Amino acid sequence: AVAGESGSGKTTLASLLLGFLLPSEGEIRFRGENIAKLPAAKRRSFRREVQAVFQDPFAAYNPFYRVDHVLTEPLHLFGLVRSRHRAREMMEAACERVGLHPQDTLGRFPHELSGGQRQRLMVARALLLHPKLLIADEPVSMIDASLRAIVLSSLRTLNTEFGIPILYITHDLTTAYHVANAIIVLYRGTIVEAGDAESVILNPQHPYTQLLVDSIPSPDLDTPWGNGRPLSDGFSAPTAESAGGCPFIARCPHAMPRCATQLPPLYAQNSRQAVRCVLHEDAPRFEEDGLSDLLHLNASPSKEIPQ
Ligand code: SF4
Repeated sequence: AVAGESGSGKTTLASLLLGFLLPSEGEIRFRGENIAKLPAAKRRSFRREVQAVFQDPFAAYNPFYRVDHVLTEPLHLFGLVRSRHRAREMMEAACERVGLHPQDTLGRFPHELSGGQRQRLMVARALLLHPKLLIADEPVSMIDASLRAIVLSSLRTLNTEFGIPILYITHDLTTAYHVANAIIVLYRGTIVEAGDAESVILNPQHPYTQLLVDSIPSPDLDTPWGNGRPLSDGFSAPTAESAGGCPFIARCPHAMPRCATQLPPLYAQNSRQAVRCVLHEDAPRFEEDGLSDLLHLNASPSKEIPQ
């Protein structure tokens, strides 16, 4: 998961990874190649292998077409089927894999399905293309709370059954805790904390992660919001003082003068967590090229999805 509030850079990151935006610095590589310079054939494979599920489960549909259209279009576009019968079989199998009954789903118009069904159909669409990576950008933030679990569990199934890596982008640490193995917390485009999701969320070390965790409402009305810590009132514009320093300085209750002059490096808390804050400078420095090991991103490759 990549977590952070609005303006932290989550959606920009998703757009960069999907090739919708070009990076102003550096490059994004897929199978070792810069995605901005892929030749046409590889670009086509990249488009098929890196799939996305976006926030608004209605915007992806054309209200004048039956929902089948969002499934048949990519099958034809990428030349994956030759007959309508085969296309139907593949669509039905994909629906079943995300817990939708084909007979209740296919043939309907978008407004006849619930937000959760529409979003699960987008997951089914991604699945049809055998993705090697699925980018889910706030996939449940516009869905009724009662339907979120079912969408998240269909995403989780793609990961556990077919080994498809999922980048789950969210502002909501509660869902990140339930679905993610590893988490990066972003603040204004900077990684402030990273590691095993359980360690980071249950034992947050960066003042910003602590603020995010404290902002999760407790069902116990006697527990004050914020765990007694002062809650920040949200976004603060970057200041001249914070340029080049810690991006969280304007909201940090522990800020000190030197936080304004230098962006702290990441410090290793243990083998499962790293934090970017001078409060942890007694810990060993964490080299950022070790992030994929920390996050266990070199996991087993995805398996073939039976059709
Ligand atoms: Fe706060 Fe300084 Fe740590 Fe930034 S580096 S989070 S301002 S204590």
